[in-house]
Amino acid sequence: MPEPTILPKRGCMFCATPLRHTFVDLGMSPLCESYVPAEKLNEMEPFYPLHVYVCEKCFLVQLEEYVSPREIFTEYAYFSSYADSWVEHMRRYADAMAERLSLSKDSLVVEVGSNDGYLLQHFLRKGIPVLGIEPAANIAAVAVGKGVPTLVKFFGERTARELADQGKRADLLCGANVMAQVPDLNDFVRGLEILLKPGGVLTIEFPHLMRLMAENQFDTIYHEHFSYFSFLAAEAVFAAHELTLFDVEELPTHGGSIRIYARHAEDASRPVSDRARALRQRELSAGFTRLETYAGFGEQVKETKRKLLEFLIAAKRAGKTVVGYGAPGKGNTLLNYCGIRTDFIDFTVDRNPYKQGKFLPGTRIPILHPDRIREARPDYVLILPWNFKDEIVKQMAHVREWGGRFVVPIPEARVLDES
Ligand SMILES: [Zn+2]
Repeated sequence: MPEPTILPKRGCMFCATPLRHTFVDLGMSPLCESYVPAEKLNEMEPFYPLHVYVCEKCFLVQLEEYVSPREIFTEYAYFSSYADSWVEHMRRYADAMAERLSLSKDSLVVEVGSNDGYLLQHFLRKGIPVLGIEPAANIAAVAVGKGVPTLVKFFGERTARELADQGKRADLLCGANVMAQVPDLNDFVRGLEILLKPGGVLTIEFPHLMRLMAENQFDTIYHEHFSYFSFLAAEAVFAAHELTLFDVEELPTHGGSIRIYARHAEDASRPVSDRARALRQRELSAGFTRLETYAGFGEQVKETKRKLLEFLIAAKRAGKTVVGYGAPGKGNTLLNYCGIRTDFIDFTVDRNPYKQGKFLPGTRIPILHPDRIREARPDYVLILPWNFKDEIVKQMAHVREWGGRFVVPIPEARVLDES
């Protein structure tokens, strides 16, 4: 694969090997959660390179860090509870884990990146003590309002030691979609090892790099996501901090995630499962420890852009109207990379009132209330959070009353069937 002309200053965030191989270069993009309020429409916006590398030694796929995480995460607009299917997914997880680990009023469940308490509330209802750790103060306040005790902090070795010193170590330590956002990966995993009680179980969910590549989900790449893991890469990182992955589940969430189960390396009571061994073997067979495997992804991404633009150009030439649904981070990567503004999409809508009345970063597409789609009666609704497409099509079934059609952009532009 061609080497980039300007190399990142920093080495691999896990093993420090110099990064020399591009995974995909999405050009310049604004921070995807920096929604623009109306009064700032005449101001400039910072854009940063969205250039992803793969480490030739440990095969961790990662972004070079351009932006201070504190700038990104102290006021974050993503409230997990606005997606019904996600809350339901985590309710099932809470039920399963409470049973599998026999959690009780004497246990402690800690979630790192606990967001608005969407997960811990389910343990709380079962009478199991919980603690959330969440760096975004505005989101943590919502969790506290639900009765979920939440520490407003970045998680790492220091926070873990403070808690351990107070006698707080977790029987179940969990995190969902948090590992990608960690700027200092080694500090984070070291912290997990410290906070996990002897005999405790750690579960971490993250989008699976294998699925990201197979299904061309390049829009899940944004500045807030520093790293993208295969099972093999995660296994190497955890092993370096005395944690053994002993089980794994493959999940449909976020376009295809895995939930890894880890324990202290010396805890022999939980043997490595067949599932974990099988996934490991699948990744080895698919070439995830060879650089060539990562080389073709960039071209695949360019072709997706051409296809989406072809669809939009044809629709506009035919006099059709197109609006968006959703204002997720992934939509902002997609729209900025493809150069899609109000020339193609009149507006988008979002259920989150925090985003309504604001504009998408970079593309400046207005974000309105979902009811505005009923008034506008567009020919096409482009679903930006395609991972929730079934839920959205159901919620927005009235679009079909006037002959409107739903379109997904990924893995390539496609009009959804009527059925
Ligand atoms: Zn590395």
